[in-house]
Amino acid sequence: MTITEKKKRTVLVVGGGVAGMSAALDLAGSGHRVHLVESGSDLGGQVAKLDKFYPTDHCAFCPLWTEIRRCKESPSIFTLTNSRLETLEKSNGGYRAVITKSTPVIDPELCICCGRCESACPKGVARPIWEHAYPPVYLIDRNRCGDCRTCVDACPTKAIGFEREEEKSELAVDEVIWSAGFTEVSLEPLKEYGWGTHPDILTSLEFEAWKAESGENKGAILRRSNKTAPRSIAFIQCAGARDLRLLPQCSAVCCMHALKQAQWVKRRNPDIHCVILYTDLRTVGRDYYEYALRDFGGNGVRLVRGRPSLIYPLPGGDGIAVKFEDTSTQKREIWKFDMVILNGNLKPTLSSLPEGSIRPELDGEGFVKRTATSCGFVMEPADVTESAIQASSAALRSITDKN
Ligand SMILES: Cc1cc2nc3c(=O)[nH]c(=O)nc-3n(C[C@H](O)[C@H](O)[C@H](O)COP(=O)(O)OP(=O)(O)OC[C@H]3O[C@@H](n4cnc5c(N)ncnc54)[C@H](O)[C@@H]3O)c2cc1C
Repeated sequence: MTITEKKKRTVLVVGGGVAGMSAALDLAGSGHRVHLVESGSDLGGQVAKLDKFYPTDHCAFCPLWTEIRRCKESPSIFTLTNSRLETLEKSNGGYRAVITKSTPVIDPELCICCGRCESACPKGVARPIWEHAYPPVYLIDRNRCGDCRTCVDACPTKAIGFEREEEKSELAVDEVIWSAGFTEVSLEPLKEYGWGTHPDILTSLEFEAWKAESGENKGAILRRSNKTAPRSIAFIQCAGARDLRLLPQCSAVCCMHALKQAQWVKRRNPDIHCVILYTDLRTVGRDYYEYALRDFGGNGVRLVRGRPSLIYPLPGGDGIAVKFEDTSTQKREIWKFDMVILNGNLKPTLSSLPEGSIRPELDGEGFVKRTATSCGFVMEPADVTESAIQASSAALRSITDKN
């Protein structure tokens, strides 16, 4: 579609996950200009960190890579990575945004991915992100760095520089789309889940990274405590979600990713006994119920209807006890597992929206009101398909009725 220069709008898209990229590509495809601002070192968001991908069980990164490339190659999308939205104000009928760009210690333009920084680093903080980044590069985590600078001398292309400073810049835009995704809320206040009391009690995002083929265990299913294969894993649904003390809403994606994670555990090690403790199974999406039926169909994953009242490490480090009522049989049980994966503590990323900035209109549960027109929208936790649909709808809303 071609539009006149006068009708072209400039849209700031905050967050370069699948949603932000979808919105940016739709807007660019309709002839508008986009500033795509991502605080991470590359586009892709959570999906770039996922292992396998429901409902197809394919590699999550392969389709994402195409979208990342399309964004980077589009002449109408100006991508800013390592950049954070600092403030957002109304100005001249549009918005004024202040963006802070932090320069990575390793310059991606100069990094040739030779790995000499990794070999030189005594603290192991230089790591490659070649599996899930385009172009492939190394990263150094400033916060964990011991400041010895051995990597600087080891780098043959002088790509490493610790002295680089943050840069602030201003953008004047007509519209803003807030697509900063969702984040985990700490389960610390809900003591009964035992989060933080044992290394083998993990959240689903921690487990996703831990079991990933591109992760440090190369896809092997291991305990975090001693790096041996667990005999059993419990997946606990609605941990923190549908709970008035933490998050009243359903986190929407967790039933599906628990089913996915349990199925992948069984594929990689059929000897591991997997149990999913659920409240109700919410598999809302095309082919999703069929995906769940595989677990009912006797592939070795056991589904039990019940919500634990207590999870606690057993003395001597010998596993983790899960106390619950099986609501199908009304029997109270205490089962022992080697690992426990907690699912449910997800909420929209509003925390990174700067204090004092314009905020989207929220309902009582912290979700953006569907009718909100103040400033784009906030994603609810949603699967990739739904996230892309919400993003396209936000892109459309940002350019209609105004031309
Ligand atoms: C354990 C787990 C497994 C999952 N598995 C699947 C699956 O198999 N299939 C599926 O369909 N879905 C899955 N999902 C859901 C999937 O992760 C989401 O659908 C997807 O990440 C949503 O994309 P998004 O762009 O909305 O958010 P995100 O992926 O969270 O991206 C948001 C981006 O915004 C950036 N950002 C945040 N704040 C700012 C700021 N102030 N300035 C600039 N940038 C900012 C973040 O760095 C991030 O890159 C899973 C989710 C979890 C938790």
